[in-house]
Amino acid sequence: MRVVVLRIGHRYVRDYRVTMHVALVARAFGASKMLLASDDSSIVEGIRAVNERWGGSFEVECIGSQQAIWLNTINEWRKSGNIVVHLTMYGLHIDDIIQEVRDRCKDEGKDLMVVVGAEKVPRIVYEVSDYNIAIGNQPHSEVAALAVFLDRVFEGKELRIDFKGRMRIVPNARGKRVLDMNSLVERSDE
Ligand code: SAM
Repeated sequence: MRVVVLRIGHRYVRDYRVTMHVALVARAFGASKMLLASDDSSIVEGIRAVNERWGGSFEVECIGSQQAIWLNTINEWRKSGNIVVHLTMYGLHIDDIIQEVRDRCKDEGKDLMVVVGAEKVPRIVYEVSDYNIAIGNQPHSEVAALAVFLDRVFEGKELRIDFKGRMRIVPNARGKRVLDMNSLVERSDE
């Protein structure tokens, strides 16, 4: 199953850090791509730099901030038979619907688009999505919501993905051990 995250509502400069964290979580928790409804290419560059060091092929594509464009992206995704999940505190509790989403992806071979907002999300998103899903019905953050959702989708297996990066962490009970695969030098200054 391929998972693509659509980040809407990103505001230049103000949302850089949060959107970068949405991208980092998407990458680390098994999504293959983030579509960013903005022209902020600094996020694209930031993720490229992360991949260069830590591996994987996760990518960010800026699709522009206009509603007509990202709405068309959602509609095209659905038209091709794939599933759109919108994460919102107003949605169905994740425990009550995640099995159905996973089954549809597995049994029907569907891919998943996960929409996360920033500020108030336009009503239309609630209408065009196949599922409006809440990670608990309390307000928190798109970063947290995405992490929990992806972990439930992949049932924890995503945390074992081998990113085959130049830099590889050697898990350690104390301190930091990182291998630079280019020089095969062990570093402790990361
Ligand atoms: N009041 C805003 C709204 O009406 O959409 C919430 C904005 S919240 C700061 C930013 C994003 O975090 C939301 O668009 C949603 O994607 C995500 N989010 C926040 N709390 C959530 C929850 N409990 N469950 C699922 N997603 C949540």
